[in-house]
Amino acid sequence: MTDQIKAARVRYAPSPTGYLHLGGARTALFNYLLAHKTGGQFILRIEDTDRRRFVEDAEAEQMSGLRWLGLQWDEGPDVGGPYGPYRQSERKEIYLEHAQKLIESGDAFYCFCTPERLAQVRQERQKRKEPLHYDGTCRNIPREEAERRIANGEPYVIRFKSPKEGSTTVYDELRGEITINNEIIDDSVLVKSDGWALYHLAAMVDDHLMKITHVFRGSEWLPTFPLHTLLYRAFGWEMPKFVHLSVFLKPSGKGKMSKRDVAELGGDGYSIFVRDFEGFGYLPQALDNWIALMGWSYDDHTEFFTLEDLVEKFSIEKLNPSPAAINFSKLDHFNGLHIRSLSTEELKKWVRPQFEKLGYSVDDTLLTKIIPLIRERMVTFDDAPRFAEFFFKDEITPPAEELVAKKTTAAESAEIARQSLAVLSQVESMAPETAEPPMRDLVEKLGYKPGQVFGIIRVAVTGQTVSPPLFECMEIIGKEKVLSRLRNAVLLLEELI
Ligand code: GLU
Repeated sequence: MTDQIKAARVRYAPSPTGYLHLGGARTALFNYLLAHKTGGQFILRIEDTDRRRFVEDAEAEQMSGLRWLGLQWDEGPDVGGPYGPYRQSERKEIYLEHAQKLIESGDAFYCFCTPERLAQVRQERQKRKEPLHYDGTCRNIPREEAERRIANGEPYVIRFKSPKEGSTTVYDELRGEITINNEIIDDSVLVKSDGWALYHLAAMVDDHLMKITHVFRGSEWLPTFPLHTLLYRAFGWEMPKFVHLSVFLKPSGKGKMSKRDVAELGGDGYSIFVRDFEGFGYLPQALDNWIALMGWSYDDHTEFFTLEDLVEKFSIEKLNPSPAAINFSKLDHFNGLHIRSLSTEELKKWVRPQFEKLGYSVDDTLLTKIIPLIRERMVTFDDAPRFAEFFFKDEITPPAEELVAKKTTAAESAEIARQSLAVLSQVESMAPETAEPPMRDLVEKLGYKPGQVFGIIRVAVTGQTVSPPLFECMEIIGKEKVLSRLRNAVLLLEELI
């Protein structure tokens, strides 16, 4: 039986120390895809034991970002589930019980070293260019003595007692077997002096108790993967499959993304935070498509995927451990593809707020007519006002010079505008089939190029030098407004003469 058939239980486990970014979103997406592909469960677990770096609204923000991306979880702090609680801060006792088991089996020990002493050890090791490991002072304190010191109120942490000889082989689904020398595994702290478990213990215990079958996580956890494997062995538990995902590179492809790079991106109008993409006018499905392909591919040419397509096509075998560059122009490309895949009705939902944001009350019939004219051109939704704001304006007052057609004088352009006004006043409607033929006749009669005449009308009616097809726009704007905008243009041009 392959992974694809067995129902997977997977989890996305953010620490509420920051907002949802592309890396977290991609991890969540792969979890969601595997759960849905196999008919399993996608679990949201909040890893909030580090109270110092806690960000108040991070949990809610992570949740709303995931929902925006369409990645709803089946079990989690808000929706509950049979393996809760799903917030680590509510599981303190569970971790302590498990730490106790490791003490009893001899796989962990109480450590009474003071922070000052540890700092000194680190310093000395640094000088000798040795790994900054714990020096083992408390490893062999007899259990009774340790318990006496604890009873006396001496502060302590609980550390893992890592083997000092031999080697450990770990298995990553993308990278295969990795064997490391046990010498380089530290006696890591599992429980801090305040009684809170650290990630190493808490996450392994939770993954086991929550019956997680696959762990997708960032490759920053590869160095401590041997420790995690040893913890599983110490408990005598079967390990889930581990997948350490590829790292993200800067858009230039040179080097890993750092905090400073993130800040610089922000300065350039880019972001790695999911909630910013919504503001920039991107579709969640385009974002899903984009991040799915950072470290996964279906074949060497398919690039358009809806979330449903991704569920159908996803497989762990096609994940790629090589670093993936963040390419924002690819996102633009995907957004365009997804916009064009949506119906007018669906697009209305996204385009409407762009005009409302500018203070217009948006008439539904008008919006329905506009969407087909701009659908092909939009890269992001905030392009919509750039292409179509003139439909909502009462009056258009372009800079007068823009009304002067190429290779004409202001007087000639004014005359063209007057003649056009006369022709258009006579036609029954602005529909292309009614208004365009007499205007083409006028172009011929006046002896100008169509671009010159229609250029003037375009600027007069839309206020823009580039617009969706002119007559289609005029039909939507309606005869009365078109004529009044043309009259206004004549006045503006006359002022230039
Ligand atoms: N809380 C950890 C993090 O945010 C989760 C890592 C994991 O998925 O195991 O990096």
